[in-house]
Amino acid sequence: MSKTIAVIPGDGIGPEIMTATLRVLDALDCGLSYDFVDAGMVALDKHGDLLPKATLDKIAEHKVALKGPLTTPIGGGFTSVNVTLRRHFDLYANVRPAVSFPGTKSRYENIDIITVRENTEGAYRSEGQTLSADGEIAESVARNTRKGSSRIVRYAFELAVKKGRKKVTAVHKANILKTSSGLFLNVAREIAKEYPQIEFNEMIVDNTCMQLVMKPEQFDVIVTTNLFGDILSDLCAGLVGGLGLAPGDNIGEHAAIFEAVHGSAPDIAGKGIANPCALLLAAADMLDYLDMVAKGDRLRQAIRDTMTNDRDSVTPDLGGKGSTSSFADAIVKRL
Ligand code: NAD
Repeated sequence: MSKTIAVIPGDGIGPEIMTATLRVLDALDCGLSYDFVDAGMVALDKHGDLLPKATLDKIAEHKVALKGPLTTPIGGGFTSVNVTLRRHFDLYANVRPAVSFPGTKSRYENIDIITVRENTEGAYRSEGQTLSADGEIAESVARNTRKGSSRIVRYAFELAVKKGRKKVTAVHKANILKTSSGLFLNVAREIAKEYPQIEFNEMIVDNTCMQLVMKPEQFDVIVTTNLFGDILSDLCAGLVGGLGLAPGDNIGEHAAIFEAVHGSAPDIAGKGIANPCALLLAAADMLDYLDMVAKGDRLRQAIRDTMTNDRDSVTPDLGGKGSTSSFADAIVKRL
């Protein structure tokens, strides 16, 4: 199979981890070719625009993009490029797997939780936010729709079926947010009936936080609204040792963008010590999405083997003495 994807190297450590990731993908022999496009600070410098139209056009053309982290300049007038991309392509599902890896510092073992977060509505609508003229009253309107809730819940169940998962937990706050969270929960209950082979349960978000810390093994797939998903997926990343191993998939009906959850790490940019694993794991999810599941699994297993057997080659954030490229080389050897 031959497929071209759009590649956004990104800012800070982005180009370093992207080079490493593409080297590993090439070694996997997936038949991918790359159309490099600019976004973020690089694009602002080169084209005077954080997100040039040519970049949007290329993502629309190829439908799949692998993206490095982008720096959002601090100060007025700049909207986050990540948020703009999500809106532009209606990437409604933010899928964030949290899986324990050998040799990572964490209090927990054997965690394997996928958070499916609604990515476009809920409390994160900028048009629902107002501040009174005297600056004394701030109002923020959360809006969930039946359509938005249905497609994210259905996505979570379909993902559970495709990945052979056993259980979907709908996380909500419908006891207090009776209308917005209530609509989401009612839709989740209805859709769950269509998937009798998958166990379904529902849990209030505050209890979910406690349960994730006390008994994380009870969770399999979590589906929830935008704000809760944003917070819970970071909590889950914390259960497996932080953001260095956390991929984030942004999926819509017409496009999908795969990225690391972490940012551009300006403090270590250019030093050659950035951990490429989060982007590599995002690339593995991209291979699944492109129906190359065996290749995706091979890549995840090679990362796992390297972290178990070649501790010297891994990057300092994981306790090793290696560099971005030594880590990638070691993974390539184990493919
Ligand atoms: P960050 O994730 O870039 O860095 C936080 C800490 O984690 C730093 O100490 C950094 O060195 C470390 N770290 C991050 N990734 C690492 C890796 N792969 N290997 C080793 N260490 C790593 O968060 P920040 O400093 O708050 O944000 C920096 C910039 O990134 C900001 O402009 C922010 O807006 C942007 N950002 C972008 C995205 C994205 O593009 N998806 C996500 C988050 C933040």
